[in-house]
Amino acid sequence: MTAADPNCLFCKIVAGQLPADRVYEDESVLAFKDIHPQAPFHCLVIPKVHVATLNDFSADQGALLGELLLTAKHIAAEQGLPGYRVAMNVNREGGQVVFHAHLHVLGGRPLKGALG
Ligand code: 5GP
Ligand code: ZN
Repeated sequence: MTAADPNCLFCKIVAGQLPADRVYEDESVLAFKDIHPQAPFHCLVIPKVHVATLNDFSADQGALLGELLLTAKHIAAEQGLPGYRVAMNVNREGGQVVFHAHLHVLGGRPLKGALG
């Protein structure tokens, strides 16, 4: 884990070097709308520090991981979503394309379909 990776797309969004439609921010977490939404509401929740994948979180970053999930809950309540889906892709084989760990938060219509 490093504070920021200069080549990382999401680190650039955190730094304000790339635009994003921000929906939530605090000192350790940022959430912004996904550029290719897969549901009427689709945002990404990321740690502000660069962590490439779920596998790269260390044991002492449990609180940060918890914050990502609590942020998803907070945003869903704020958006008035009666139900929603939280997903995290891990590594290419798990569907991860951007290697700065992120939760997908999807909702705004009844969700169904296969997860894998
Ligand atoms: P992954 O497949 O890595 O779990 O998901 C990456 C997500 O990031 C995709 O849903 C993709 O649409 C989104 N994404 C990729 N580039 C950008 C960007 O520049 N801005 C925003 N807001 N989302 C992005
Ligand atoms: Zn990054």
